[in-house]
Amino acid sequence: MAYKHYIDSDRCKGCGLCIAVCPRKVLEISGEVNSKGYFPAYQARPEDCVFCSTCCIMCPDVAISITETEDSGKTAEMK
Ligand code: SF4
Ligand code: SF4
Repeated sequence: MAYKHYIDSDRCKGCGLCIAVCPRKVLEISGEVNSKGYFPAYQARPEDCVFCSTCCIMCPDVAISITETEDSGKTAEMK
């Protein structure tokens, strides 16, 4: 099973709660403003993300989602 972590930067108001709770220190505040004038969070170290969903649960603006994706690099089951 593979997962994709996504932050909707235009929903984010840059409160930093997700950054504080991430156990792997994956997230940081971006230096670029979003359409609402906030500095949104982004995955600075996506390779360290363990898809625990703590950040998704914590975000008051529901800006973060984790979705299942197709397994990459794995072939389908064969007989
Ligand atoms: S899913 Fe977990 S490890 Fe990944 S960014 Fe969110 S809190 Fe951090
Ligand atoms: S908790 Fe949500 S609103 Fe706050 S910085 Fe993280 S993604 Fe943005």
